[in-house]
Amino acid sequence: QAKADGRNSIRFYNPELQRRMERQFRMEAEIRQAIDSDQFFLHLQKQVGGNGKLIGAEALLRWNNPSLGMVSPMEFIPVAEETGLILPLGNWVLENACRILKDWEQEAATADLSLSINVSARQFHQKDFVRQVQRAIDEHKVSPDRLKLELTESLVLEDIEDSMDKMEQLHALGLHFSMDDFGTGYSSMAYLSRLPFDEVKIDKSFVQNAARDRNQRDWVIIEAIIGLASNLNMRVVAEGVETQTQQSYLCHLGCRCFQGYFYGRPKPVEEFNVAIKSQFHGTESS
Ligand code: C2E
Ligand code: MG
Ligand code: MG
Ligand code: MG
Repeated sequence: QAKADGRNSIRFYNPELQRRMERQFRMEAEIRQAIDSDQFFLHLQKQVGGNGKLIGAEALLRWNNPSLGMVSPMEFIPVAEETGLILPLGNWVLENACRILKDWEQEAATADLSLSINVSARQFHQKDFVRQVQRAIDEHKVSPDRLKLELTESLVLEDIEDSMDKMEQLHALGLHFSMDDFGTGYSSMAYLSRLPFDEVKIDKSFVQNAARDRNQRDWVIIEAIIGLASNLNMRVVAEGVETQTQQSYLCHLGCRCFQGYFYGRPKPVEEFNVAIKSQFHGTESS
């Protein structure tokens, strides 16, 4: 009886929260099923260099649920993290990334591309993460230096010792690292210099604000990130580039690698591969 009253009072005082929680509970059950029934798939989004040349892609997880429809990773990744379902899900992404890389290695058009995957904190900090990565690479016989792990600042800072240890081991295996959403977290620049990151990704919020408002503060931050990264010999990728204007600003500030709708939306793997191959053969013959 008390329990029922509790539920009623939640519903009475905060129907919005109630709906959100119900959706979350439902989602947890749905994610469990979805892993076994092919509801997850990957999109790939281009990354280009200054001259417009394709340099790689980021794999982005997609979930098409029969009753919920397309669910954004912004919604289901946090639920998967909380419930531990990110572990099987993260492994699924890793496996499939290796398959894509293997497939790419067979063709001249794609053989030089790198593939970035997003790794969540709980996945990275589990005890045998390094072994899982090694096993996936060995099993699919892909060259590890084409695989890039995107980690966020908060992931690294959650356990700096563990991060350093795992990153060094993975780096020794040949993997590369990108610091995702740089500038949005704790901005612990001191740590950045001590960890084997190859790349930082400027968060799309800076990219978009800087060009929209010519907001001085965002300009200064972008400039500082680019300066810092180049002094540490890291590549800088600007994410979320949507317009020519944004690209021009970023170019002016010294950024040479880009990702965003301006170059291409994230696309299903097959569609991405077909586009890349036809483009490649197009330029070859012309
Ligand atoms: P992220 O890693 O920072 O990925 C970039 C996000 O920006 C993606 O959102 C991408 O679709 C979006 N984006 C790309 N270009 C543009 C642009 O020009 N404009 C705008 N407005 N957005 C752009 P998405 O796919 O919804 O993913 C959201 C976040 O979910 C990712 O942010 C990442 O943190 C997480 N995520 C996605 N896939 C995975 C995964 O496989 N594992 C884990 N752990 N997290 C993932
Ligand atoms: Mg990312
Ligand atoms: Mg990002
Ligand atoms: Mg982001």
